[in-house]
Amino acid sequence: MTSYQVLARRWRPQTFEDLVGQEVVVRTLHNALASRQIAHAYLFSGLRGVGKTTVARLLAKALNCDKGPTPEPCGECVPCQEIALGSSLDVLEMDAASNRGIDDVRELREVARVLPVRDRYRVFIVDEAHQLTKDAFGALLKILEEPPAHVVFILASTEKDKFPATILSRCLQVDFRPIPVELVVARLTRIAEKESFELTPGAAQLVARATEGSLRDALSLLDRVRAFAEGAVDENAVAEVVGLPPFETVLALWRALEGGDVAAALRVVRTEEQAGREPAALYEQVVQLLHALLLLANDPEVPVPFPASHRGTLRASATKLGSPLLVRLLALALEGKGLVASAERPGVAVAVAVGRLTLWPRLQRVEALLGGEPAPRTSSPTPGETPATETGSGPASAGERLVAALESSGAHLLAGRVGSVREVSIVGDTLVLHCSGLPAAAKKSLREAVEQLAAAAREAGLPGEVRLDEDGPAVGKQEQGLRARVEADEGVRRVLEVFGGRLESVEEKP
Ligand SMILES: [Zn+2]
Repeated sequence: MTSYQVLARRWRPQTFEDLVGQEVVVRTLHNALASRQIAHAYLFSGLRGVGKTTVARLLAKALNCDKGPTPEPCGECVPCQEIALGSSLDVLEMDAASNRGIDDVRELREVARVLPVRDRYRVFIVDEAHQLTKDAFGALLKILEEPPAHVVFILASTEKDKFPATILSRCLQVDFRPIPVELVVARLTRIAEKESFELTPGAAQLVARATEGSLRDALSLLDRVRAFAEGAVDENAVAEVVGLPPFETVLALWRALEGGDVAAALRVVRTEEQAGREPAALYEQVVQLLHALLLLANDPEVPVPFPASHRGTLRASATKLGSPLLVRLLALALEGKGLVASAERPGVAVAVAVGRLTLWPRLQRVEALLGGEPAPRTSSPTPGETPATETGSGPASAGERLVAALESSGAHLLAGRVGSVREVSIVGDTLVLHCSGLPAAAKKSLREAVEQLAAAAREAGLPGEVRLDEDGPAVGKQEQGLRARVEADEGVRRVLEVFGGRLESVEEKP
């Protein structure tokens, strides 16, 4: 029985060529080594798991290889092999997170003074170097001010801005970037092939995205999913291990959003919460889905982190909605992300964000109206409105007909002037643009636009009216009293506040 070696270790790059996604780093170091310009201190900064320590060891090899200093260490000589195993006496790794005191640095200074045991350089790799104490930094600075010829420090850190300027200025600074998702996916796929296990393309995407550019994290996640799945590693196995909702749930929520069905959307969120999963994770998947749809709208072959079996459905949604709308939706979804992240109760915030997204068909029509573009049709009616301007059954009210007509005629008159309109509503036969609270100049400009528009509508023989509402809704006395009561209601106030809505009309039930 052989012991299992984790993938990240097993597949740690042993040459600069094997490194994934760090071309700038590799070229910088390659050139320096080729021209024998060896610095006494390097600062490797960047996110966790992007290859800093790996490159530090490669650099140590490059410096101490029997054939070195060379950009292409042989990997076979004794120094190369010992460094790969972490057993070289001349390459010392320390972790500032656990050895952060002044004593370690004094010790370091003693060791630095001693000549290398066997190799060309004494290389000190200090991981998490930003965690050194102020005194330790002081001691390090002393060494760097007059570095012994045979000493090389490689400081690795996720937080470059925590270094004193005096240290920074004495280091060759090498910035590591997050590894692009596609490169992580390619690496995972290749490793799965070599290790002979099945990894679906969607699962590879999910793993890469969940670990945000950290190859080490991606590989250890893959280890965990593999242990869990006991067979093919697919989307649902990844979702289960990461705590993501199953794809079916994401899809159900998307269907509700697409159809403008707020109740169904909120039901999905609640069920997810009841299942003990983070609603925020579901929301994140919706954002990912929208992103995927946007990509698919522009390139049907683009890889996306969702099961291949649903590709056709997603592609159809993407084509139906089109890029401009998907961009809007994604922007809206990202706004919601901020809301969810800062919320004390993410469940409520997710419900709000999802609710807003679900109301998008209405936004979409208003946008189209205001922008003078024809509104794309959706298959389902907007909640809270009659499906009058949708295809099929004829318009129900003159106001609705006006909206429909304006979509193809006079709306361009308003374009560019009405970005600040708060909301558009239809009251009976009248299309109302709400603009209370706008600066006087903006109101004036709008008033002119509305007059033009109304004239154009009359001329074209369109039914209904266009009206500017500058001070809030005009209501009758009886309704006013009722409205005041409703407005005073705490529950109503909360709902309006949370959803960013306004009270449209108030009616007493007979
Ligand atoms: Zn060698």
